[in-house]
Amino acid sequence: MKVVVTGGAGFIGSHLVHRLVSHGCEVHVIDNLSTGDAGRLHNEAILHICDICGDQAAACISLIKPDIIFHLAAQADVQRSIADPSHDAEVNIMGTLRLLEASRKAGVRKIIFASTSGVYGELNKDQILEDDPVSPISFYALSKLAGERYLHLYQQCFGLTYTILRYGNVYGPGQTPKGEGGVIAVFGDRLAQGLSLNVYGDGNQTRDFIYVQDVVSANLAAMYKGDGETIHVSTGQPTSINRLIQIVAEQLNQSIETHYKPAKTGDIVHSCLNSSKAKIALDWKPAYTIEQGLAETVKHWPI
Ligand code: NAD
Repeated sequence: MKVVVTGGAGFIGSHLVHRLVSHGCEVHVIDNLSTGDAGRLHNEAILHICDICGDQAAACISLIKPDIIFHLAAQADVQRSIADPSHDAEVNIMGTLRLLEASRKAGVRKIIFASTSGVYGELNKDQILEDDPVSPISFYALSKLAGERYLHLYQQCFGLTYTILRYGNVYGPGQTPKGEGGVIAVFGDRLAQGLSLNVYGDGNQTRDFIYVQDVVSANLAAMYKGDGETIHVSTGQPTSINRLIQIVAEQLNQSIETHYKPAKTGDIVHSCLNSSKAKIALDWKPAYTIEQGLAETVKHWPI
């Protein structure tokens, strides 16, 4: 099977590319390397260095005529989206729209879209379900939601099918301290420099941390299942920042100096995504607990 991974040189994309190559796919990567790194790519992947917003990416898709596009390229930095909402919209909305238009013309069968738990905003629920109301509180999440809606309409109007995967906070080897969900990477970066950790708020805020290899498995499952569906890729387990630090300390077998700072405005306090739909729609469930995923991750920290 021929596939394109936009953002394939990024953190999640590069792990996905490795697995797709092992799966026997011909893998093309479209990436402008703005946050990505070509050095991470599997040597059998074919890299096209271009911007999803430009004509070159559309021309690539028209030439490659992939069966499936995994669309991960994005402006994925929440704080940057608040500082520069126009740039965010250009990449995440217009870039997605241009990709959809190119896909329709090239006869692509399916788009698998990387979306986010951020679309729900601050929903006061222990476990969020896919049909709960959406109410983004950052331009990043708003632009992702717009991308979702375009996918939905493209399926209705043109028959281009999709699976929307709303990820929890993804973590794992190769993650950089920038971007969405980067708290674990930020901690790793600071600990590698011998620095203390800063926690914004009281540390009791929770996230649904999902290990990157589980996210990759969900993307692979979506190649064959989940057409027209929006599905959480998550553990369904909340983990507080304080607990996270405790697990890291246990795994590194060292005490960690932590400083508590005022909470950042716009930060979501609790976020946990129910993952039972994925079991039915994708026949997928996470294989890694937070302890197992962190054990794999800290191995790669230069500490
Ligand atoms: P990343 O920044 O590591 O990867 C994004 C990739 O897209 C990079 O390689 C970058 O160079 C490329 N890119 C950015 N703008 C581009 C453009 N205009 N044209 C072409 N390429 C471009 O981020 P990531 O953490 O790997 O995230 C991948 C996807 O998953 C993103 O769509 C993100 O919104 C989504 N997501 C991530 C998380 C998370 O916790 N990391 C959570 C939810 C959703």
